[in-house]
Amino acid sequence: MSDLTSLTLKAAVDGLKARAFSSAELTQAHIDAVAAARDLNAFIVETPEKALEMARASDARLASGAAGPLEGVPLGIKDLFCTEGVQATAASNILKGFKPPYESTVTANLWRDGAVMLGKLNLDEFAMGSSNETSAFGNVINPWKSASSGNRALTPGGSSGGSAAAVAAQLCLGATATDTGGSIRQPAAFTGTVGIKPTYGRCSRWGIVAFASSLDQAGPMARTVEDAAILLSSMAGHDPKDSTSLPVETPDFASFVGKSVKGLRIGVPKEYRVDGMPAEIEQLWEQGIAWLKDAGCEIVEVSLPHTKYALPAYYIVAPAEASSNLARYDGMRFGLREDGANLTDIYENSRAAGFGAEVKRRILIGTYVLSAGYYDAYYLKAQKVRRRIADDFDRAWESCDALLTPTAPSAAFALGDKSDDPVAMYLNDIFTVTVNLAGLPGMSVPAGLDANGLPLGLQLIGRALDEGTLFSLGGAIEKAANFTARPEKWW
Ligand code: GLN
Repeated sequence: MSDLTSLTLKAAVDGLKARAFSSAELTQAHIDAVAAARDLNAFIVETPEKALEMARASDARLASGAAGPLEGVPLGIKDLFCTEGVQATAASNILKGFKPPYESTVTANLWRDGAVMLGKLNLDEFAMGSSNETSAFGNVINPWKSASSGNRALTPGGSSGGSAAAVAAQLCLGATATDTGGSIRQPAAFTGTVGIKPTYGRCSRWGIVAFASSLDQAGPMARTVEDAAILLSSMAGHDPKDSTSLPVETPDFASFVGKSVKGLRIGVPKEYRVDGMPAEIEQLWEQGIAWLKDAGCEIVEVSLPHTKYALPAYYIVAPAEASSNLARYDGMRFGLREDGANLTDIYENSRAAGFGAEVKRRILIGTYVLSAGYYDAYYLKAQKVRRRIADDFDRAWESCDALLTPTAPSAAFALGDKSDDPVAMYLNDIFTVTVNLAGLPGMSVPAGLDANGLPLGLQLIGRALDEGTLFSLGGAIEKAANFTARPEKWW
């Protein structure tokens, strides 16, 4: 049954409806694939019994004609989503053993539509990282390797490294992920998968462990643009339990895939031509521009003049919000508790033992930039920069309908290469954080391989709530790129 794992999500939905195979068969094939791929360390928790139980319930609904849009489809869930009764850790020791008493809205929406849960996927601790190396459960290994660079173990990107690796290695038909500064798009680019961060407010944040609440947004990762569209239509929707969730209808995003992009104006922001970017990424970008031109788009050069301030502003705003959000982990209510002589000692010992180094760094930075005397110089200034960045995009929309950029400044790098240098790690997010700061939708589509045979992605950025256009453009790039490469199975 191993060929069932190579289906697209769309083909699986159709096959299940046609009763070509059962959800129990499809799910078992994925459970076996997950068990055979433990070397990748993509899953923190596997839930095979739960998966089979959900699959059998799906088969019953399929038989009675009551199937939902994702009926019987096995998915992986980033371990940042609360799942009722199933451990949710945010890849942190401080939440080890925490079993949420409730379900996140996004995952509840997926189960409502019939999806099956295979387990919880690894990530950077509290989603802080770009390489999945800050996880308390160990790093994930990218299924892609490069013989020309010695077959070293590579990062799948981060923070949604488990989601990206699991989708790329065909351990699930799609996965949930979250993106605060690029954590869906960069891992998608590093693994040859499709990832979209929707408009801020498109998906409910209720039940997702908070990192930086004004930036966090959930989205899907999948192997095709259409699959990502199908997943997002289920995940999204207004939720009164999240006051930042937008009260808008969720379109049938899949209906945008394959639609003509003729006449769309595509902006190419000149500030994204950064120094030191590999020539191959420049070339791929040029290639993407040519593909969209061939598809009938008009290409315009645009300027986003405050781009260079985005990364420093992000690395003030995100830690500031994180330092506040993570104050709740005090050893009292959730997960780990260390002993101490008094309450303060318990707090301090629990936090010292429970948080990893990167999380501590963020809490320190965040507390500093919010403290009296520094608030105006850092946090307030960063908020002003954020406004300017959003204004840059608003101006760009006067002359174009979407933007095309590279997703990341490099292909997947080797594990360990940047883990001692936080600034080098943060530079990975140079093309992605602007989108979070402005609250816009951004998608990464696999577009080619570099000289070492590793995947590279192109990023499409759209107007707020205009994911539909991104799905049409993503579909056009996917068709032109004809990206069929898959990692060789070594695990
Ligand atoms: N790499 C970024 C960070 O560490 C983004 C993380 C994310 O999007 N969750 O903050």
